Amino acid sequence: MPPNDSAPIATAPEAGGPCILAIESSCDETAAAVLDGTRSLRSNAVHSQIDIHAEFGGVVPELASRSHILMIDRVVARALREANITLDDIRGVAVTQGPGLMGSLLVGIEYARALAWARNLPLAPVHHLEGHLYAPFVGLAEGSAEPGWPFVALVVSGGHTALYHAKSPGVYEELGRTLDDAAGEAFDKVSKHVGLGYPGGAIIDKLSVQGDAEVFAFPRPMMRSKDFHFSFSGIKTSVAHALEKEPTTPEGQRLNDLAASFQRAVVEVLVHKTLRAADAVHVDRIVLSGGVASNKELRRTLQIEAAKEGKTVVLPPPALCTDNAAMIGAAGYARLYQSILANEGFAQPHLAARPSWPLGKRSPLQKPRQRGVRRGPKS
Ligand code: ADP
Ligand code: MG
Repeated sequence: MPPNDSAPIATAPEAGGPCILAIESSCDETAAAVLDGTRSLRSNAVHSQIDIHAEFGGVVPELASRSHILMIDRVVARALREANITLDDIRGVAVTQGPGLMGSLLVGIEYARALAWARNLPLAPVHHLEGHLYAPFVGLAEGSAEPGWPFVALVVSGGHTALYHAKSPGVYEELGRTLDDAAGEAFDKVSKHVGLGYPGGAIIDKLSVQGDAEVFAFPRPMMRSKDFHFSFSGIKTSVAHALEKEPTTPEGQRLNDLAASFQRAVVEVLVHKTLRAADAVHVDRIVLSGGVASNKELRRTLQIEAAKEGKTVVLPPPALCTDNAAMIGAAGYARLYQSILANEGFAQPHLAARPSWPLGKRSPLQKPRQRGVRRGPKS
């Protein structure tokens, strides 16, 4: 058969070592990816459910799991096709075990488990947030220098906002987290409130480019608190109050100014807390990940402010910031690679979904008074 010129990325099935398949279905993306031995990305298939949830202004769990069931086989087939391989070339499977929506997680886990069982392949369960920490490692061989350890990671998405001290592979401490809404959730709620679409992050990001961030004075919640926690529900209320004072619903330039002012407030808090957290653990390397890490102002401001302090920022490309399976594969690769080398087969007859699952231990830097903070999913 003549070589297929349009075949993406791949040349031969084992070009960079054994291929693994990674699966992610924790929230509203059905995703599958193929990585090879250098953690090179051979394919990265993502089916987003944005269209399904848009009319509700947020993710509807039942609709999410139903869509995962319909799509997962097709998404896996696409990942294999785009990697130019077949299931016979897969030597291990990584899957998101949690945290996330129970019904959504179950679809990915049961699919991965059935596949691994049927083909006698090793299966690596992966923590979704560890996946976000590994996004910048996609494409980097095990042990390569950059982004390197240790680092401080800001994981900022629609469901999560937290700071981690990533000491070495598998050793993480939570420095702080949001006490109420995630930053992405604030973007989405503000967007809905001013009549823009869902999800709101990318829309507000775009409008802000034309806006003046000095026009509206929004608070910088918890910016000066001595801990590394966040709170974004108040800023959403401040936007609602600002809107009440407007004679008419803002549009045009006024809407751009509102978007820019809101975005600046969120970005300033995220950047300030991240830099101070890095100081507190004496680390000068920062990883930014999660859907909100696609935000242009956040990327630019963090880079500028970090550079002033001699710190380095590692930014995954936006496609690896939002939920994807490539990052799950990157996180699971080391464990799978050991199993592949040891010729191990399927050994996970039971694998329970973990919808509520903290990553690592709490850092001793978290103040004792914060110990009572609720860690489960928000209502
Ligand atoms: P989750 O599934 O937990 O919501 P994702 O990693 O899929 O997390 O990220 C989706 C979130 O990222 C949404 O809240 C969305 O508004 C936000 N987001 C996406 N792009 C941007 C952007 N450019 N600026 C700000 N937020 C963004
Ligand atoms: Mg998502």
